[in-house]
Amino acid sequence: MAIRSIIKFGDPTLKKKSRAVEKFDDRLATLLDDMKDTMYASEGVGLAAVQVGVLKRVVVIDIGSGPMELVNPEIIEQKGEQKTPEGCLSLPGESYMTSRPMEVKIKAQNREGKWVIYKGTELLAKAFCHEIDHLDGILYTAHRIDWEED
Ligand code: ZN
Repeated sequence: MAIRSIIKFGDPTLKKKSRAVEKFDDRLATLLDDMKDTMYASEGVGLAAVQVGVLKRVVVIDIGSGPMELVNPEIIEQKGEQKTPEGCLSLPGESYMTSRPMEVKIKAQNREGKWVIYKGTELLAKAFCHEIDHLDGILYTAHRIDWEED
């Protein structure tokens, strides 16, 4: 297990599309373990492999209820809307209001290649969207909205 360095906004790698994982081997397990170490060391709630310079469709998320390992994740359903502040480990110190779905259902493979369905609301829904966007080279600033007073 090791902490990898996180690439920052401005690095062209962040705009690249990641490739699907086809081999569920020891290298994938090491990547997932390192990504969790890196996420916890940076006190983030999610990290995509592209952020450590690996263009594979691999994500880790922990919103405080334990780690999730998502390989080849895809959104299969989304509902509602939430407007909340959002940040990213690749844009340290920044936070902008974004518009995201309130409820998101995804499917993803685990480190053994088994497909699992996950459902998230609020912060978890936002994390699913944020991290899956990274796999397509999209940063959260693409969903930025201006603050609206109630
Ligand atoms: Zn991010």
